[in-house]
Amino acid sequence: MAYRITLLPGDGIGPEVTAATVRVLEATGLDFEWVEHADLGASALEKYDTPLPDHILDSIRKTRVALKAPVTTPVATGFKSVNVQLRQKLDLYANVRPCRSLPGLKTPFKDVDLVIFRENTEGLYSGMETYDERHDIADSVARISRKGSERIIRFCFEYAQTHGCDPVTVVHKANILKLTSGMFLTIAREFAGEFPHVTFNDRIIDNMCMQLVVNPQAYRCIVTTNLFGDILSDLAAGLVGGLGVVAGANIGDDYAVFEAVHGSAPDIAGKNIANPTALIRSAEMMLVHLGETEAALAISRALREQYSEKDHLTADVGGKAGTDAFADRLAERIAIHV
Ligand code: NAD
Repeated sequence: MAYRITLLPGDGIGPEVTAATVRVLEATGLDFEWVEHADLGASALEKYDTPLPDHILDSIRKTRVALKAPVTTPVATGFKSVNVQLRQKLDLYANVRPCRSLPGLKTPFKDVDLVIFRENTEGLYSGMETYDERHDIADSVARISRKGSERIIRFCFEYAQTHGCDPVTVVHKANILKLTSGMFLTIAREFAGEFPHVTFNDRIIDNMCMQLVVNPQAYRCIVTTNLFGDILSDLAAGLVGGLGVVAGANIGDDYAVFEAVHGSAPDIAGKNIANPTALIRSAEMMLVHLGETEAALAISRALREQYSEKDHLTADVGGKAGTDAFADRLAERIAIHV
């Protein structure tokens, strides 16, 4: 039976890393039926008068699973991020971002192995911004709800318990944001009581940034609100080799969308030099979600081999290979592992 997956190649480096990832997925021998929608963001706005057309949401609702490449969002002007809209409209409340060292990569620390659980639907991404023209003042609402906090915190504790991966660290700014960040921290403390076998601590966001660049191995599962999670995941990506290697998953109760942490990287788009590892590792998470653990393991082993042998790596991680050549070599290795 073929897996029907909505495929969103996005823009910038998106189409290049998507082609590489599809090549790698197909090397596992599994059958996929790709329901591809190329127009999302600026190109969709031109064609359909909206950056996120309904037929794309309908497609994900039907297939329930999507593999998505990055989409450019205009900065300080223009349309709302389709990435944020997609997560909110499909209620994909858990953004799961594992940051794990790869063998062979020269990084400041060895053996970093942490997962960031970012609340994905509220906080400062709630989309409630107003501008008072008369006084030239802009406001942004950082909405935190009990329901929204409970479900991401529960998700993180359950993951930590199932994977034997603790401590759980809740990251906040409850010393200043006593009601919003304060509520998130209070709820996390309540959950800590429900999971007595999972060790738990908390850190204020500024301290957390310092701790992560000094002693990242002390952390395993980090759960936090939307903006802090977004910033911390790029910071953590820097610890394990950069944005080219860090995967992500947006999970809700009904649907799941797998996408890398990185953006559309317009500075390197169209040059066949982007590292597809991040989207390939996101696809590996998708296989685990589909129950295809053997195939996921084959990709993971092949990737580790390719990195430890420094074979066909892309420029961001010290190699000279193009996106295509990286994927071709990885596909060869996977064929051996499956
Ligand atoms: P970015 O992640 O696109 O790029 C940051 C830096 O990392 C750049 O120097 C880029 O070349 C490098 N980089 C990123 N991915 C890489 C890869 N796979 N291989 C090698 N190098 C890589 O972040 P940005 O420049 O801040 O954002 C660019 C655009 O992407 C913006 O419009 C932003 O809104 C959007 N964005 C989209 C998503 C998404 O679709 N989920 C996520 C983040 C940013």
